Amino acid sequence: MLGSMMQQPLLVSSLLKHAERHHGSQEIVSRRVEGDIHRTTYRELAERARRMANAVAALGLVRGQRAATLAWNGYRHMELYYAVSGSGAVLHTLNPRLHPDQVVWIADHAEDQILFFDLTFLPLIEVIAPRVTTIKAFVAMTDRAHMPASSTVANLLCYEDLLEAASPDFTWPEFDENTASSLCYTSGTTGNPKGALYSHRSTVLHTYAAALPDAMDCSARDTILPVVPMFHVNAWGLPYVACMVGAKLVFPGPFLDGKHLHELFETEGVTLSAGVPTVWQGLLAHVEANNLTFSTMRRTVIGGAACPPAMMRTFQERYDVNVLHAWGMTEISPLGTACALKPRQLALPAQERLAIQAKQGRAVFGVDMKIVDEEGQALPHDGKASGELLVRGPWIIRDYFRGEGGDPLVQQDGVGWFPTGDVATIDADGFMQITDRSKDVIKSGGEWISSIELENIAMAHPGVAMAACIAAQHPKWDERPLLVVVKKPDAPLTRDELIAFYEGRIAKWWTPDDVVFVDAIPLGATGKVQKNKLREQFGDLLVAVAG
Ligand code: ADP
Repeated sequence: MLGSMMQQPLLVSSLLKHAERHHGSQEIVSRRVEGDIHRTTYRELAERARRMANAVAALGLVRGQRAATLAWNGYRHMELYYAVSGSGAVLHTLNPRLHPDQVVWIADHAEDQILFFDLTFLPLIEVIAPRVTTIKAFVAMTDRAHMPASSTVANLLCYEDLLEAASPDFTWPEFDENTASSLCYTSGTTGNPKGALYSHRSTVLHTYAAALPDAMDCSARDTILPVVPMFHVNAWGLPYVACMVGAKLVFPGPFLDGKHLHELFETEGVTLSAGVPTVWQGLLAHVEANNLTFSTMRRTVIGGAACPPAMMRTFQERYDVNVLHAWGMTEISPLGTACALKPRQLALPAQERLAIQAKQGRAVFGVDMKIVDEEGQALPHDGKASGELLVRGPWIIRDYFRGEGGDPLVQQDGVGWFPTGDVATIDADGFMQITDRSKDVIKSGGEWISSIELENIAMAHPGVAMAACIAAQHPKWDERPLLVVVKKPDAPLTRDELIAFYEGRIAKWWTPDDVVFVDAIPLGATGKVQKNKLREQFGDLLVAVAG
């Protein structure tokens, strides 16, 4: 028997309509590429999004086609989130940190029709414009006064001119909630990048889950500053969550250094921020060096890579900013788990609490997960057994855009599960902990060593600014851990001192065999350590030593 409830599709445009109607005067503050601060409201933003919906239709974009962006976090980018998806087309957020060859490959693969870009990226646009094959118009996200004087780009348009010429009368269309809404490619550290094509339904359901108290805990009383880029998995869904709950939004533009971020946190009264650990390193270094504090920030969501407990302790104990460790992937929209403690755990001594917070957390409702061994057998949730993490749920991809790479799912218990490529444990309370990505695992004499745990220990040493641990080939043990370290400025740290630091903190055979000090550790397009590069550079170091 069917229930007797209304059929209303879950559409991205409904989030903006809600914000306009119920939180119309709530502010959206952006630091623009030009460096100035811009203020708007949900009411104004919604009107401009409707104008832009008319403008993209006038440019010939029809339902299902892709319009791409190369843009920082800002109000115009948010307008496009709603204008493009809301009219039934697909917003494709390109990652400007990729190599131009990759940007061209991805734009062609996605068959992008229009490309909106922030002025910062004009040099990139000039390189790719003659090479991309489907883009018919390039729109500079600026006003007439800031339009580049001369450019080799054909069909270069001005965002504010398009808006001005377009009518604000636009009714957000209704369509099937399974219609595609946005597209984001994985960074493709192995093979060609692959696209995750989100739907309206998956996006709205993910938004509900992400806003929950034990997830990102967002409300109308929050001021949210997403540091995580809007070109990386929709800034973890925050531009949607903010509309759903009516939070004030603060966008940092291209200014992601500690000084600029801290200034915005303080002047705008930011209560919640979100980003990858490497960004917070820069912020904490600035705050420490200048004896600053956080006067309004309640918490920060850290994910995308493991958050070192030392960083959590600094945020929580020194600055009274709670850290929510979260895990996700491009393929899962991205939220999978969040590490909010249970009441019993809150009463534990600080050290034990911190050990739990270092885990990636519990599955949010909507995500099912399990760990399996190499034969695909389910492993117990005892916090010890570790195996590949499989997930399923309504915001997890079924396949990649245009079927790239074939069927990614593995069949278990008669249903398809998405193999994450992460190796994890799950404890009896349901807390998942990632020990490694399967391709980063260190296998010494047939036994696994967790590179993340070794990095976390190194990061707790006061002389270490950044650490990455890789599997180096070893003549006897196949692989042994090798630590690559960036020292804090002027820290008198030696190899032996750092090796000794592991004593008593870890099983002796897990101790890294050697330490390499470097000036910088290579980061990928989403701010994560590129361990493949480090392995290329240092992977045979121990062979040479042993030989
Ligand atoms: P890419 O796979 O292109 O690097 P994603 O952002 O999709 O980009 O990366 C997802 C991966 O990032 C996960 O599979 C996992 O390995 C890692 N990751 C994400 N969050 C965490 C976390 N909190 N701790 C450890 N690893 C994480």
